[in-house]
Amino acid sequence: MKIITISYRLPLSIKKQNRKTTITQTAGGLATAVLSYSEKSNANLTWVGVADFEKSTWENHKDGFSKNFEIEPVFLDKKLNKNFYNVFSNSVLWALFHYFPSYMEYNDEAFEAYKTANQIVADKVNEIYEPGDIVWIHDYHFLGLANLIRQQHPDAKIGFFLHIPFPNFEIFRIMPNKVKRYLLEGMLGANLVGFHTWDNAIHFTECVEKILGLNQRGFVFSQDSHRTKVGSFPISIDFDKFYDAYDKPNVIALRNEIAELYHDKKVIFSVDRLDYSKGINNRLNAFESFLEKFPEWKEKVVFLLVIVPSREEIGKYGERKRMIENNISRINGALGNYKWTPVVYQYQSVDFDKLIALYSSAHVALISPVRDGMNLVAKEYVAARKDLRGVLLLSVLAGAAKELQEAITINPFDTELIAEKINLALLMDESEQERRMQRMQNYLRTHDVFRWASRFLSETEEMHSHDNQAQPLKGKLKAELFEKFEQAHKRLLLLDFDGTLVNLKSKPELAVPDDMLINLLTSLASNPKNEVWIISGRDKNFLEKYLGHLPVGLVAEHGGYIKRGGWEPIIQGVPEWKDRVIDVMQEYVNTNAESFIEVKEFGVAWHYRNVDEKQGFLTSRELLTLLKNHLYNTPTQIIDGNKVIEVKHFMAHKGSTCRDKILCNPHDFVLAFGDDKTDEDLFEQLTGNTEFSVKVGPGNTAAKYRVSTVEEVLEFLNQLEERSVVK
Ligand code: UDP
Repeated sequence: MKIITISYRLPLSIKKQNRKTTITQTAGGLATAVLSYSEKSNANLTWVGVADFEKSTWENHKDGFSKNFEIEPVFLDKKLNKNFYNVFSNSVLWALFHYFPSYMEYNDEAFEAYKTANQIVADKVNEIYEPGDIVWIHDYHFLGLANLIRQQHPDAKIGFFLHIPFPNFEIFRIMPNKVKRYLLEGMLGANLVGFHTWDNAIHFTECVEKILGLNQRGFVFSQDSHRTKVGSFPISIDFDKFYDAYDKPNVIALRNEIAELYHDKKVIFSVDRLDYSKGINNRLNAFESFLEKFPEWKEKVVFLLVIVPSREEIGKYGERKRMIENNISRINGALGNYKWTPVVYQYQSVDFDKLIALYSSAHVALISPVRDGMNLVAKEYVAARKDLRGVLLLSVLAGAAKELQEAITINPFDTELIAEKINLALLMDESEQERRMQRMQNYLRTHDVFRWASRFLSETEEMHSHDNQAQPLKGKLKAELFEKFEQAHKRLLLLDFDGTLVNLKSKPELAVPDDMLINLLTSLASNPKNEVWIISGRDKNFLEKYLGHLPVGLVAEHGGYIKRGGWEPIIQGVPEWKDRVIDVMQEYVNTNAESFIEVKEFGVAWHYRNVDEKQGFLTSRELLTLLKNHLYNTPTQIIDGNKVIEVKHFMAHKGSTCRDKILCNPHDFVLAFGDDKTDEDLFEQLTGNTEFSVKVGPGNTAAKYRVSTVEEVLEFLNQLEERSVVK
């Protein structure tokens, strides 16, 4: 078994000097963590990514450098890569996902390039994939990839992690429909889709629900080939590496150098890639405002601003660089003097030791992104402070703010308040600095990047292992089930009605049992070894009218009522929310004339199967959101069913009613059939050796077996009836 990791950049560094090429495998946090997991689980690791070097360079040198995992570069044509990477990935997805819709530069050609690049990478993965491998896809460059791999390998174990924010529906919907569908369907190809925070996970589920019309149960989307779990997995750092580096001789020397240089000043520090999402200009403005508001700090403080070059070939980045540099000159010109430069600026990357020396010299780390998936710099700053000194000022709009609770939070647009908080941070006494740092370090020490990778990958495996196991009920499996049925003495049959025993009709009242079905049920139930129940969502009047005369047990309203001799309610009292739901749904009947409301005792359903498909779907999404809000804190459950939205009492539950009232009696053979979401509640109860469940139709299920149609159910029941003869 191996782990196949895919990210746009390969963990490689290629240097050419004096005609000599040196390739080194680099060990960033992600690579180290995946490697550690693969070693622990005895798996090999292969890394797939896009080459930023010539194919010939690779061919000539690929065997000549030391590596502890395999590297598979994908070579993309220059123009294709430009459209894929610069345009679609960085000027559409990056901009939009960071809530900069006005920076989005969409065009169809770039989208086509994105799809092609995803396909080329998928071809590479499909070529090296072997059953049992885990595939881990990283980031916004490869949103389509999981689905492309899934198409080729339906049983693959795939995890997808997004390293940037996922925007809310109103932002996501800005993209053309074909793009939205491609991206969401692509991500749903994975068994696990991970984000940095729950906000992002919730935005994603909302987009899937509204755009693809799939519903989730407990953040799990069921699809035909697999289920997709959505969750929050905040990425982290190699804590020990940053913590231990404090004592490295080179770091100590560099720190002493900084201390000497700024011996009479307090240091404010920040480091970011050049990006409009990092809020660098807001930060400069806040620093300026701090100096104006607290002039006593003039000449006593210096702001060391490190900007790491990034995406310079994209227009918005070059523009940003000019804006920042103008701002720095303006501030230094206006506030500085011949003895003092307020902002010391560097547009170059720094190596690891320098970074640690800067982190551990800074009295204040000022981190003010206007949107950031996580922000690792914040975590690194905390980890590097072995001395427990320093204060972290962190934007609430960075994912890291959710975890680093002892940071002083700032809103990057609130210049005045940041100015005050800088002052507060510079004046904070040492015991308070220590208390905050200690707490954050305690958290990061246990929530490091190794834990993150291991949680993510084991959850992907876990999700996959519990995935759709439903086998088609035919051939040998069917024969075995018949045999078990024949050998049993107390058999229980639990049958859903609509979509299981009768096909759905345009109106519920038209879907009634015919004579054949009545005879079949009568005959099955009249065998003393058989106990037959109809477990339906219909109200009790309907069931009584059409099935009340049969020797079968009845459960109405998804478990709200049970008939054993007479009808008994499971729920006491009158649902006070019912009239409100009817009022809300009535508005939708008024504007969608073909739709109608079905009122039950413990529930109300809005049926839209006769409405124009697209209009019905869109309207139903709106109604769902509206109902969720109206019904907040009520004992209800909203079911997004097959062309019906139903609100029911949460105690009207097929699973618990059957468990408490029917399954509690001894049986040596239990068989349930059902087609819809509420039947899953029952299937989940049937886990014993003599308990079997059958899902009717497509879709992922907790059932053990699957049939395709109502006709197959009836045929199967007829065959059971033939085998019911008392021997
Ligand atoms: N970093 C870097 N080169 C430098 C300075 C910093 O690669 O010259 C690293 C820094 O240590 C951190 C990363 O860049 O690990 C930035 O991660 P973050 O999540 O803060 O922002 P991103 O750049 O991913 O948006």
